[in-house]
Amino acid sequence: SRGATSPLASQGASPAHPVRRPRLTVLSGPSGVGKSTVVAHLRTVHPEVWLSVSATTRRPRPGEQHGVQYFFVDDDEFDKLVANGELLEWAQFAGNRYGTPRRAVLDKLAAGEPVLLEIDLQGARQVRQTMPEARLVFLAPPSWEELVRRLTGRGTESPEVIEERLATARVELAAESEFDETLVNTSVEAVAHELLALMQID
Ligand code: 5GP
Repeated sequence: SRGATSPLASQGASPAHPVRRPRLTVLSGPSGVGKSTVVAHLRTVHPEVWLSVSATTRRPRPGEQHGVQYFFVDDDEFDKLVANGELLEWAQFAGNRYGTPRRAVLDKLAAGEPVLLEIDLQGARQVRQTMPEARLVFLAPPSWEELVRRLTGRGTESPEVIEERLATARVELAAESEFDETLVNTSVEAVAHELLALMQID
């Protein structure tokens, strides 16, 4: 019988043909690996992909707009978000706090839309705990040398600062084994394409 593969059967929620529920996809990886560049590219190609907008206490950079790249909040506001349980995860990074507003993410998932988070490793670990069904994607540099080049590229930092960054990067690279998937950042276009495929968007 071909019943099990008929179009009708495949639309059902039977265990043999589970409905593909849109998932929470988390893109993380060592700092300097190019996460935000990949996500920015993905958004130009697929503007309909919903990306969570984080809250942060850091100051906006030139060109950044409240509600677009981030919700820029002060320390008191961030404290309240944490106290009221409004963040799915949050972390301290380079002297500032960053967190994912919970409500918008849950609403999108409930509406059947795929959700993408671009967050640091500490945040990814928290999502692993609170939303075990999330898919964690590790963005890896093509090589250690390439990551070194990116971290030291601007050439404006002192040798001490650079040494500290490299030490951090070494620890961060070891987190790869905690992730479901690894994408190697060979080119922005290739990685964005692979990420879309993982999210089942084409
Ligand atoms: P930037 O200040 O350069 O925009 O971001 C610094 C770091 O914070 C990046 O590694 C970025 O992935 C991370 N980040 C941005 N938003 C969030 C968030 O909501 N939660 C966590 N845990 N990290 C975030």
